[in-house]
Amino acid sequence: MAKDLTIRCSLCGRDKKESKILIAGINGHVCDSCVTQAYGIIKEETTGELKHQVQQAMNLLKPKAIKEKLDEYVIGQDEAKKILSVAVYNHFKRITHLSKNNKEDVEIDKSNLILVGETGTGKTLLARTIALLLNVPFCIADATVLTEAGYVGEDVESILTRLLQSADYDVSAAEKGIVFIDELDKIARKSDNPSITRDVSGEGVQQALLKLLEGSVVNVAPQGGRKHPDAKMIAINTKNILFICGGAFDGIHKKIAKRLNTQSVGYTSSVNELEIDKGNLLQYVSPQDLKSFGLIPELIGRLPVLTYLKPLDRSALRQILTDPKNALIKQYKQLFKMEGTKLEIDETVLNLIVDKALEFKLGARGLRGICEAIMTDLMYSLPSEEKPIKQFTITLDYALEKLKNAKLNQLKVA
Ligand code: ADP
Repeated sequence: MAKDLTIRCSLCGRDKKESKILIAGINGHVCDSCVTQAYGIIKEETTGELKHQVQQAMNLLKPKAIKEKLDEYVIGQDEAKKILSVAVYNHFKRITHLSKNNKEDVEIDKSNLILVGETGTGKTLLARTIALLLNVPFCIADATVLTEAGYVGEDVESILTRLLQSADYDVSAAEKGIVFIDELDKIARKSDNPSITRDVSGEGVQQALLKLLEGSVVNVAPQGGRKHPDAKMIAINTKNILFICGGAFDGIHKKIAKRLNTQSVGYTSSVNELEIDKGNLLQYVSPQDLKSFGLIPELIGRLPVLTYLKPLDRSALRQILTDPKNALIKQYKQLFKMEGTKLEIDETVLNLIVDKALEFKLGARGLRGICEAIMTDLMYSLPSEEKPIKQFTITLDYALEKLKNAKLNQLKVA
């Protein structure tokens, strides 16, 4: 009998006529429908795996364990870490509870958070680290660029586009992600502007955010940008997305002080005036203060967990330089090691960096710029040295010399 020479798919046996494309391999062929089917199986398996990972993270990490993990990356801020750990734990407990769908049980509210604290004190770092620990999709949105739908700027839905992108367009993973909304204070109601013109970047945005925060199905454009009638939309349910908002709320201490003073007149005072730590009023921040600052009550209601971050003092800044898992100085040492150079930095230099960061009032955010100013020349010249330099020590004189020439004044806050 003559040998069948027809080229067929080695998996399903379809011949050339029955398939659109036959891809040739070393010992056979594969048809387009087998490729499509295989891709579907892989996709299903990997998203299943992601779900499994989220589930595992939820099962494994108790609040204490979450806080201990945060300690490895974030210095100080114990109160915020504790509150965040509990909120995140409860949030994921709520998700698993919901998925069991026990109708008789009490429904647990979402624990979206607000972190109040000066710039560079670790708000973003906390949110980012939590997402990293739980291995869930994470994105950062800047509230200042958001505007009410229909005005120049970004719609609030664009936040979800970003989350979807960070989840590689896996909708079910994005629906369990964490969103950090930075600079929430910048969309406070502008009370001194009772206006004929609408407050489209303030109260209007707060109103628009409500929908996202409370949990609803939102249609988002996969590529971002303004909604276009022809664009294909993806529906995302925000019910299980955890929103963490951050803001410096400049001047809120005055509102807190005012409230505490008026409270301490009556018998019902909860904080005795004698006990008030006037140096750090932020620790007494309450939803009422956020309202006086210009957030609308509905928004505050949907962000039920409120905590604060302390300004970083000298010893915290010094620790941040060298102690966290990915501390700045550890990163520089690693960079130099890759050039074959052992980098040593005198303790006096580390103290100098901290002094400058305090002077510029940028929190830990200033540390990096100062380090760069000291190291840039070195990082520029070392890789081109003919003979590798085995060891280099940054002394106080060297650092002072580099800082003198740097344009550090640009870092200063007015
Ligand atoms: P914020 O969001 O409060 O303005 P970030 O979290 O973005 O500040 O902090 C800016 C940088 O400073 C981060 O990249 C981080 O390296 C460092 N940093 C700030 N606070 C801390 C902290 N408490 N512990 C460790 N690093 C910190």
